[in-house]
Amino acid sequence: MSVVPPLLRVERVRKHFALTKGILFTRTLGHIKAVDDVSFDIRAGETLGLVGESGCGKTTTSRMILNLEEPTEGRILLEGEPIHALQGEALHAYRVKVQAVFQDPWSSLNPRMKVGRTIAESLIVNAWGDRAKIAERVRELLLQVGLRPEQAQQYPHEFSGGQRQRVALAAALASRPKLIVLDEPVSALDVSIRAQMMNLLKDIQAQDDVAYLLVAHDLATVRHMADHTVVMYLGKIVEQAPTAALFEDVRHPYTRALFSAVLVARPNPQEEEIELKGEVPSPLDPPSGCRFHTRCPYVMPRCSQHEPALREVSPGHSVACYLFE
Ligand code: SF4
Repeated sequence: MSVVPPLLRVERVRKHFALTKGILFTRTLGHIKAVDDVSFDIRAGETLGLVGESGCGKTTTSRMILNLEEPTEGRILLEGEPIHALQGEALHAYRVKVQAVFQDPWSSLNPRMKVGRTIAESLIVNAWGDRAKIAERVRELLLQVGLRPEQAQQYPHEFSGGQRQRVALAAALASRPKLIVLDEPVSALDVSIRAQMMNLLKDIQAQDDVAYLLVAHDLATVRHMADHTVVMYLGKIVEQAPTAALFEDVRHPYTRALFSAVLVARPNPQEEEIELKGEVPSPLDPPSGCRFHTRCPYVMPRCSQHEPALREVSPGHSVACYLFE
């Protein structure tokens, strides 16, 4: 039986940033371990949720996937091709296949450009067709994201926050990408329209077979959207599982603390709540052993001495914690 390769593979990736001092004579003070030995796959047409507090490495991971940062070690492959060796035409083709929608749509919309032109931009750059064909595609995209074709003539300030996010999504979809990085796509929106946006994203995925990397701190969004969930803490994966399995049977103390902090309705009322105390330690000098040991209520002597490996506890569900050896 042939195994279908993943659309995107993140393979033992590390990203360490040098922290330097001085202008003429720079001195390296240390390295920020933003991402440390992270691996996961994203399959075509599926959503992978990447969650954790700020500083956990999820943004750096998504920037590496967008080819905006190069890993210090490890590889990222799209359809089997390592992405950081790409140059010229091949790099351009990658940027067509992998798009992004950010939390703040203002960051991707030019306030002085009519939204129709913004959506058409990537089609024009890629010589997608003549004027009439591009105009037809813009019309189709506006309808697909729930806007009216005549709104192509309006400027971003004439739209609400939710509508601007729809425009940003239409622009990302224009070149028919295989993967869209959704960086906190609904967290800036009113609660009342978040569900609409999430449903729209799911409908588009079902129509276009596009995969999403959903970067979020909000577990409710991940639960609604993601097929698989990866939980990161201080640059490391601490737990990963199919989303339904994770919400049924959350294991790692950090993930349980995230659930306690964020979800009103607890996934499993029998589970003891864990209150997350203190700040995330600095990634410049992360704690030894298990990086969560400075905040973990179950800490044992060996937790600070050796790092627990990520182990499978049930099919597809892996946890990095000595409680589950
Ligand atoms: Fe807590 Fe130890 Fe598990 Fe880390 S390895 S999460 S410190 S029990």
